[in-house]
Amino acid sequence: MTNPHPAPPKPVPNPARTPSPGLAFREHDHTTCALDILARAEALTGAAGARLTPVRRRTLEILLEAHAALGAYEVLDRLAADGFGRQPPVAYRALEFLVEHGLAHRIRRMNAFAACMHPGEAHQPVFLICRGCNAVAEAPAGGVRPALDAAAHLAGFTVERASIEALGLCPQCRAAA
Ligand SMILES: [Zn+2]
Ligand SMILES: [Zn+2]
Ligand SMILES: [Zn+2]
Repeated sequence: MTNPHPAPPKPVPNPARTPSPGLAFREHDHTTCALDILARAEALTGAAGARLTPVRRRTLEILLEAHAALGAYEVLDRLAADGFGRQPPVAYRALEFLVEHGLAHRIRRMNAFAACMHPGEAHQPVFLICRGCNAVAEAPAGGVRPALDAAAHLAGFTVERASIEALGLCPQCRAAA
């Protein structure tokens, strides 16, 4: 028997607002995802008394495009193609600005940068890096950091900053392998 008065559908929470771990590896409404991150970036830089200038905004858009880690020179090539000039400092300064304001992360292992999917949220992500396509997803560190702290404590060491990067294959690349 069907219910003649079905409950109204619950509002769907904006998936980009709290991206689930591994979003970057799955098909998703990327237009909404990118627009949401860009809007949050505008608000955050404004609140910090800074400005998301056209070159900074474009740099963030480029990083967001494939959710992939890009080297400074790849970013520079893209900026040059968009008419922002070919001077390396242009890309470096824009990337530095994004990292400083928590809008992008430096992926040390690859000497590359990736857009942050949780701008404005305090987080210490574990970076999941696909060695096939360079896609980068952020997963919550969860129990990783306490485990690291405990291991460091045994050595009498205090961890102040840790960047945890895991290399592997994303679902698409694994399927293609
Ligand atoms: Zn996306
Ligand atoms: Zn992040
Ligand atoms: Zn991949």
